[in-house]
Amino acid sequence: MAKQNKESRCSFCHSGKHETLMLIEGMDAFICDKCVTQANQLLAQELGTKSTKNIQSAISLLKPLEIKNHLDQYVIGQDDAKKVLSVAVYNHYKRLNQKIDKDEIEIEKSNIMLVGETGTGKTLLAKTIAKILHVPFCICDATVLTEAGYVGEDVESILTRLLQAADYDVTSAERGIVYIDEVDKVARKSDNPSITRDVSGEGVQQALLKILEGTVVNVPPQGGRKHPDQKMIPVNTNNILFICGGAFDGIERKIANRLRTQAVGYKVKKDDTVLDLKNLYKYITPQDLKSFGLIPELIGRIPVLSHLNPLDKESLRNILTAPKNSLIKQYEKLFAYEDVKLVFDDEVLDFIVDKAMEYKLGARGLRSICEAIMLDAMFDTPTQTDVKELNITLDYAVEKFEKADFKKLQAA
Ligand code: ADP
Repeated sequence: MAKQNKESRCSFCHSGKHETLMLIEGMDAFICDKCVTQANQLLAQELGTKSTKNIQSAISLLKPLEIKNHLDQYVIGQDDAKKVLSVAVYNHYKRLNQKIDKDEIEIEKSNIMLVGETGTGKTLLAKTIAKILHVPFCICDATVLTEAGYVGEDVESILTRLLQAADYDVTSAERGIVYIDEVDKVARKSDNPSITRDVSGEGVQQALLKILEGTVVNVPPQGGRKHPDQKMIPVNTNNILFICGGAFDGIERKIANRLRTQAVGYKVKKDDTVLDLKNLYKYITPQDLKSFGLIPELIGRIPVLSHLNPLDKESLRNILTAPKNSLIKQYEKLFAYEDVKLVFDDEVLDFIVDKAMEYKLGARGLRSICEAIMLDAMFDTPTQTDVKELNITLDYAVEKFEKADFKKLQAA
C-alpha cells in the first residue's frame, strides 16, 4: 500500500511521527498525542457546560416542598431539619442565578449546621440532597484537619475531595456540596488562650473561615501537603454549599443552663416553661455553639442552624422498611438475584429494633444486627437451588443473633 511508503502523519494536525510523542493508528487515520489532549479538553468543556445546564434545570424545577418530598423518600422523620435544608438549598441555588441589580441587594451564602446525635441521619440528609440536585458531593472529616504546617491534613484537602468527586471538572465542583462531619471536634479546647497552639481546634476553625465564606483557593489536585513545585488548581468556593454536622456531645448541658438562666431572668409564660428535656437539641441557638467552643466568626459564616431528633423505636422500625432503599428492601433484592423470595415476619423486625435500642446501636446498628441474622442464609442460599422462598421467623432470628458475637456488635 502507498500509505506505508509515506511517513505516517497525524490526520488532524499533520504532524509527522518525529514531531510527536506518540502517533496512534486507526483504521485509515492517525492521531497524535497533542490532538488527543486537545480533543479531551474540548470534550470536558462541552460536558462541563452540559452539567452546569443540568444543575440549573434541576434547580429551577425543584421547589422547597419538592426537595422535602424527595428527602422523605430516603430519610425518616427529622421534619424540621428537612424543611430548613430544603429552604436553604433552594435559596442557595437561587443565589447562584442572581443578577446584582441596581438595588445592589446581594443574597448571601447560606451554609448549614446540622446538630444531632450520631447516627440520626445528618450525613444521609446531605448525601440525599446532593443526589437530588445532581451536583458533586463529598464528605470529609474535620477530625483529620490541622492548621497548615502541622501533622494532619490541610483544610484545602476538603476541596481536593470535591474536585475528585467532580472528575476534576472545576466548573461543576464550584457548584457542589461539601459535608464536613464531626465539626464539633474542632471546637476550642479551653476557654483560656493557652501558651501552646491549638492546631487541630481553633487553628482549623480559622482556616475554615476562608473557604466557607468564598474565595479562590489553590487546591493540590492529588491532596497531601502543598509544596512549591506542585501544580495547583484554583477553585472558587463562593458557590460551594457547606453543610457541617456534629453531635456536640454535652451541648445539652449548655442549652439547659441557658434556658434556666433565661427562665430566672425573664418572666416566661407558663406553657413556655414546659421543656422537652429528652430532646434539648431542639432549643439550640448559635449562642450555644459559641459556648461549646466554636469561634463567633465561624458561626457567622454558617447562618442556617438546625437539629436532628434522637431516633425512637418507631423511627427505627420505619428506617428498616420505609425508605426507598431500606435495609429490608436491600436484602429482598439480594435474594431475588438468586430467585428466592425473602419474607421477614413482623416480630423479626420488632426484634431487630429492640436489640438496636437495647445495645444503644442506633440506626447504624440495624445493619450489623441484620447481617448477624442473615449471614448463614446468604452463605447457604446460592448453593441451595431448590429453595424458592425463605421465611425469616422470630425463632430463626433469635438463634442466629445469639450465635453472633454481641460484644462485636456493640463496638460497631
Ligand atoms: P450521622 O451522620 O447523623 O452520624 P448517618 O446519616 O451517617 O448518621 O446515618 C447512619 C446510617 O443510619 C445511615 O446510612 C442510614 O442507613 C441510617 N439512618 C440514620 N438516620 C436515618 C433516618 N432518619 N432515616 C433513614 N435512615 C437513617
